[in-house]
Amino acid sequence: MEKTRKLYQDQVYATECDSRILALEEVGEATSVILDQTIFFAEGGGQPCDLGDFVCPQTGAVLASLSHVTENEGIVSHQIAGPLTHKLSVGDMISSRLDWPRRFLNMQRHCGEHILSAAFYELFGGVNRGFHMGEDYMTIDIALEENPDFTEFTDEMIASAELRANKMIWDNLAVSVRHYNTKEETEGIPMRKALAIEEDITLVCVGDENNAAGCVACCGTHPKQTGAVGLIKIYRYDSYKGMTRITFDAGQPAFQRFCEGEEILKTLCRRNSAEASTLLEKISISEQKSKDIRQELYALKKTYLEEHAAEIEAALSSGEKIVLREYSVLKIDDLTGLGRLLTKPLRGLVLLISPTENTLYLQSNGTPDCGKIVRDNAAVWRGKGGGKSDNARAIFPARQELDCFVDYLFKAY
Ligand SMILES: [Zn+2]
Repeated sequence: MEKTRKLYQDQVYATECDSRILALEEVGEATSVILDQTIFFAEGGGQPCDLGDFVCPQTGAVLASLSHVTENEGIVSHQIAGPLTHKLSVGDMISSRLDWPRRFLNMQRHCGEHILSAAFYELFGGVNRGFHMGEDYMTIDIALEENPDFTEFTDEMIASAELRANKMIWDNLAVSVRHYNTKEETEGIPMRKALAIEEDITLVCVGDENNAAGCVACCGTHPKQTGAVGLIKIYRYDSYKGMTRITFDAGQPAFQRFCEGEEILKTLCRRNSAEASTLLEKISISEQKSKDIRQELYALKKTYLEEHAAEIEAALSSGEKIVLREYSVLKIDDLTGLGRLLTKPLRGLVLLISPTENTLYLQSNGTPDCGKIVRDNAAVWRGKGGGKSDNARAIFPARQELDCFVDYLFKAY
């Protein structure tokens, strides 16, 4: 079969075309369609495929929507996922309608990768060795291998590459696309990466065609000028397999992320009664205040627990068999801390209530066995919990059940 004529290579802004169906193949409910010519870019080189519709050339009615576009040895295959709602036949003429917003977004992001890679090469001899286009960000893996002056990235280097890339956008440089049949024809053309293919080569050049930094073989779709990319923002950089992984985005997604960041900044400013310029200082002051309050609370609680531990010990010493106390300000972990402060030999049972949590803390010298008391009896009043012989805890669904459990303990011990 003849290779598909790829209109997107020469007419990158074309959004409609007429084509003849050369072949149809059904795989389960899905159908794959091969045309004589197409405006749909097939997935490749890290750029997602185009999507869109086949429409009736006469009426413009949608015949089928594409779910995927792939290429194999020059033949582009258009996939339709579900069962066909309109009959398609070999030999039919159909019109194609490109999902342009999706294509333009991909062009912005993909070209952004070219521009940023050019900046890393030009400034530091960094070579792009890997590319990934994700939903929320893109990554390139840069190997610092061509300039011995640069072996490791610094924040300043990253910032200067980002600025250089954005200046290339502001300069609205031409993005040229040239096709060559064989590798020999490209001899002498400066490129930032050696060619990995032998024939049917497309060279894409950002800016001056004699500047190797901007020139590279690529099969993707690109805007005519760098201005269309709009913006490039680096989000972070990390060591990765001896290279540096740059996480970034370009075009509309980078702008959206900027807007989301602005919203977060505005909210933080409002909450801290600050301007963006004073926000960090205000947060530092607030953090210091919280730290001071925590220290103060710790000291107060320590004194409070020590005083109450002494009071409980006094009650036990006077012969009370069961000491019941309730502390509205203490949570179960504080009650456990209070229990730990009871250092005199215990004779009897200590019961401490955290009313806000409907929780009872039990402590003894092991007799009676606190854990066993909870395990054997708490469930009668829908309590849950457990523990060891010398301390245990039980939590109840409501205060009433906790009180019934305590009444039972007074009767039983
Ligand atoms: Zn490209």
